Amino acid sequence: MTSTLDRTTPAISPNVQPMNDDQRTIVSALKSFLKNKVEPGAAERDQTGEFPMQIVGELGEMGIMGAQTPEEYGGSALDTATFAMIIEEIAAVDGSLCLTVASHNSLCQGHILIGGTEEQKQKFLPDLASAKKLGAWGLTEPGSGSDSGGLQTKAVEQEDGSWMLNGSKNFITQGSVGGTYVILARTDAAREGKSKNDGISAFVFNRDEVTGFSVGRKEDKLGLRSSDTAQLIFEDIHLPADALLGERGNAFRDVMKVLDGGRVGIAAMGLGLGRAAFEFAAKYTLGREQFGKPIAYNQDISFRLANMDTKLEAARLLIRKAADLKDAGETFTTPVARAKLFATTVGVEACDEAIQMLGGYGYVKEYPVERFWRDNRLTRIGEGTDEVQRLVISRDVLKRFAD
Ligand SMILES: Cc1cc2nc3c(=O)[nH]c(=O)nc-3n(C[C@H](O)[C@H](O)[C@H](O)COP(=O)(O)OP(=O)(O)OC[C@H]3O[C@@H](n4cnc5c(N)ncnc54)[C@H](O)[C@@H]3O)c2cc1C
Repeated sequence: MTSTLDRTTPAISPNVQPMNDDQRTIVSALKSFLKNKVEPGAAERDQTGEFPMQIVGELGEMGIMGAQTPEEYGGSALDTATFAMIIEEIAAVDGSLCLTVASHNSLCQGHILIGGTEEQKQKFLPDLASAKKLGAWGLTEPGSGSDSGGLQTKAVEQEDGSWMLNGSKNFITQGSVGGTYVILARTDAAREGKSKNDGISAFVFNRDEVTGFSVGRKEDKLGLRSSDTAQLIFEDIHLPADALLGERGNAFRDVMKVLDGGRVGIAAMGLGLGRAAFEFAAKYTLGREQFGKPIAYNQDISFRLANMDTKLEAARLLIRKAADLKDAGETFTTPVARAKLFATTVGVEACDEAIQMLGGYGYVKEYPVERFWRDNRLTRIGEGTDEVQRLVISRDVLKRFAD
């Protein structure tokens, strides 16, 4: 039986230091870009669904599209805590743009960084980091979402060592606007005694270098309407041998690492959207008078603001802990699952509370809080639903207490 003291998860206290000078400079430059270039069109893009290619290009010039990619491949080599701050800031202004930035960085580039050879890194990362090409990552399929090991897309090795890829992917961010794609496919049957996650491989390729690639349905979404979500169809895509990313048959291990990294971003996105709603509601309730005084001075409202403030700050600390563990090279699967579960739950809750505090004005498009809610709802689904995070956390809890 382990002692009570042993029943804690590993190591490293959250780093509660204030932002360092570099972080302050990066966040301040980003905030002014967001205020001047992104915020003015965010509500309109939500209506039209227009993908902000120009803005994404400018973020590329600023180093945000290769935020954690090493400098030798054209990236900014930022640590994960700084990346989370960037994501929080973008989310607080435009959730759609935030999902684009988060997935481009964490999923597509994240997987190439984890599994790529030196040649693959040199070939793909510079164009991704500069946003010359946008990156997409395809795991989900019509029949396999949470149970991603059930994927049916197949890559069959040819006599000359090249591959033939067939199948389809669902809900792929940057699906129709992407230039570089990382795609998961079954290459081998699961080995005896192993789970069905065995036998899956990853492939990376530029869309303009293959034939047989087409974009299916573009999704008409509740929120994140100016992010690009599409179905991908692969019909006899012939890939060279060096398109294989990581070890043949063992990609699932890399997928789990990619998702752990991605969850830092989605947690920060949930936090950023929740913070935006909270800040809007605080200002609004101080300005809105009913019964002869600002509604903020009703204790019910001010206490709810206090709860939102506290929960959002707690979410920020959980994200910081996961980010610091990642950068320290520690296992951070459970800490990031907690961070994602909590930050997206309280982030969505803050958006819902903000709608309530604005009354009828919260429900109409004149104010942004309904958009914040619609955009934020995805963070409880993408890159592992709430329930998948609970599966991860509960497995760890039971393991710790079972012996
Ligand atoms: C806007 C958007 C962008 C996306 N971008 C990408 C992308 O870029 N790349 C990519 O590969 N995918 C992407 N996805 C897919 C996303 O990751 C999946 O939608 C998500 O993992 C859930 O899978 P599913 O939709 O098939 O739901 P399902 O897996 O069918 O789940 C349905 C419900 O059942 C619950 N459930 C399932 N299994 C269990 C269980 N064992 N215990 C308890 N509850 C369970 C789930 O939590 C959920 O509530 C995106 C999705 C959206 C909507």
